[in-house]
Amino acid sequence: MRSPVTGPRVLLKRLREVMAEPLGAQQRLDTIVQSIAANMVAEVCSLYVLRADNVLELFASQGLNPEAVHQSSLMVGQGLVGRIAATARAINIADAKEHPSFAYLPETGEENYSSFLGVPMLRAGRSLGVLVVQNRAAKQYHEEEVEALETSAMILAELIAAGELEGLNERGIGLDLTKSVTLEGVPLSDGVGFGNVVLHDPRVVVTNLFNEDADREIERLRAALTALRISIDDMLSRGDVAGDGEHRDVLEAYRMFANDRGWVRRMEEAVLNGLTAEAAVEKVQNDNAARLMRQPDPYIRERLNDFDDLARRLLRQLMGRHGLVEKLPDNAVIVARSMGAAELLDYDRENIRGVVLEEAGPTSHVVIVARALGIAVVGQAQNVVARVENGDKIVIDGDGGSVFLRPQPDVEEAYADKENFRITRLAHYARMRDVPATSKDGHSVALMLNVGLGADLPQLEETGADGIGLFRTELQFMVSATLPRLDEQEAFYRNVLDAAGDKPVIFRTLDIGGDKVLPYMQHISEENPALGWRAIRLALDRPGLMRVQLRALIRAAGGRDLQIMLPMVTEAREVREVRRIIDKEMRLLKQFGHSMPKSFRLGAMIEVPSLLWQLDELMQIVDFVSVGTNDLFQFTMASDRGNQQMANRYDALSRPFMRMLREIVEAGKRNNTDVTLCGEIAGRPLAAMGLLAIGYRSFSMSPSAIGPVKSMLLALNIDRLAELVLNLLLEPSNGQTLREALTDFADERGIPY
Ligand code: PEP
Ligand code: MG
Repeated sequence: MRSPVTGPRVLLKRLREVMAEPLGAQQRLDTIVQSIAANMVAEVCSLYVLRADNVLELFASQGLNPEAVHQSSLMVGQGLVGRIAATARAINIADAKEHPSFAYLPETGEENYSSFLGVPMLRAGRSLGVLVVQNRAAKQYHEEEVEALETSAMILAELIAAGELEGLNERGIGLDLTKSVTLEGVPLSDGVGFGNVVLHDPRVVVTNLFNEDADREIERLRAALTALRISIDDMLSRGDVAGDGEHRDVLEAYRMFANDRGWVRRMEEAVLNGLTAEAAVEKVQNDNAARLMRQPDPYIRERLNDFDDLARRLLRQLMGRHGLVEKLPDNAVIVARSMGAAELLDYDRENIRGVVLEEAGPTSHVVIVARALGIAVVGQAQNVVARVENGDKIVIDGDGGSVFLRPQPDVEEAYADKENFRITRLAHYARMRDVPATSKDGHSVALMLNVGLGADLPQLEETGADGIGLFRTELQFMVSATLPRLDEQEAFYRNVLDAAGDKPVIFRTLDIGGDKVLPYMQHISEENPALGWRAIRLALDRPGLMRVQLRALIRAAGGRDLQIMLPMVTEAREVREVRRIIDKEMRLLKQFGHSMPKSFRLGAMIEVPSLLWQLDELMQIVDFVSVGTNDLFQFTMASDRGNQQMANRYDALSRPFMRMLREIVEAGKRNNTDVTLCGEIAGRPLAAMGLLAIGYRSFSMSPSAIGPVKSMLLALNIDRLAELVLNLLLEPSNGQTLREALTDFADERGIPY
């Protein structure tokens, strides 16, 4: 049997009338506190609102000295009211003066009152203020009264969030919701994002708070819950998650929570108290979010997170929104707790200026994709979702990791300058798009792209690059929920070749293992994954996977040129083995009547130092090599490429590494084998200068590096620099460093780097 909760219903009905009346903001607040006091038979009802300076100001009161309104205030954490705001928890106590947090405010005259009930006004888990009732007689308030006050507090929180109370306080200090906040996160993808917040999973704004018919709303809530449970069951029975694994445990937990009686009961109670089903879900979600934000235990946080997710799904069910992505406004900065790579690709990328995530690290797929698209990303931005509203101004610094919410004008100006500068530079690079990449003294240099997603392909046209020097095929596998099938791979590669037209494309076979984990493949934990069972090693041990990929590549390249290169080659023997597999695949496909590639070239990446002592042998059996300095440097210097501590310790422009790179380019000349270089250093103008000086004439780099490297090249006399650098390479390392010499050379001649 449902308990007839009449008090709260009557109060909500009254509040609805007050909200609808044409009153000024202060008058509306005064009427609200009077109505609450009358309904709850309390002598006092007061409303404190959190200001931008972290002070709770008395905004309205029935019962306390009227002179104290807008005069009396408490810091967050100070007194009972401050404590409620800090902890986001209600306090219900018969004798307030007995509570250790009690702070006496003489101007209010509250010493006359004994019992005290205060609740936070929550929005997305944050306290925007505190609502209090007090009585002279010592009494503990009933659960039903607590519920009624909490429901009123939620409605007041919506009023604050809607901006209705702005300007009411006489000192001109804004409310907490409008203040500038700087969060320090982790920089994950370069660039400055400047624009307006778009919440990825928008807190559905519940505008319809009061129900007309509680029974009907209970029905709606139950129907939505049923639909939610069915959708979770569906997910669980879908092929791609049907297997065991962590993802399945997560979904099982979801199923359990969707049936959680306590959760459902709390929502139903809120409906019985007069809220619509949506508002009831939001009220319970608010309490949850408040607990989540203040919960240090990661396990419990995780569980509360699940509830939060479910509540959002439930709201979407109720409001008929099923995750449809709406059109983005201009200059959107997407803010999310976490996000899948595919979800980012669903947006219209033209308008995205940045992404801010609470979770995600450098190897998260969404980050890999954002980087490929040149979108700035900051991760680990704690509680950012709860601190912003859709449309808020935001600036993110993907180089430094800062996020500025509702920034002060000077921050905005500084970043606007930076952004304008960047745009001017980009326009300059765009103008150079068709200028041949030739040095001042006439050396032609190939500038190609490192890419890996369909979304990258337009960059080929935009940058005017000579081709794709490194197509990281594993990215398609990493952003997919299941292993891409042969036909999917084939279609994807064909699309890449179509987009490239006459320009060459070098496909690298799967470089998985190590830190590149595929969610749907069994993952073996290794002590040193970078030195472990990865790339070509894994491919040769599990030839099925590689065969499918090679077959897809050969089929996609029917009638066209095909270039394939192999990652992490350690011994020349491995190339021979792959060549045998490719020959066999070609024969088979030919037998079945497939059209064959017009030409075929096989290359090896030089990423493992052991190849330095097999250069001639290797170059005799491949058509080209590509130097992967990211890995080659980490293995040569025994210095983890992902370790921040090691980031600036050793220099890729140091003599030992440059001597090594020179040996490779010399071996290429000796063997008449093409040598290209596709590590990150190729995209840094100063490092590229050094590489040109020691003989490299072909590079592959991220699309955003093409412009800066070409600018440098056009101003450089390579022969003159080569003389200097080759001499320096012969010297011991106690003199001038190569980096210093290159910097001086560039500065003296005005070469941009
Ligand atoms: C490299 O190692 O230099 C390289 C280009 O490959 P990846 O960065 O994909 O390991
Ligand atoms: Mg590599």
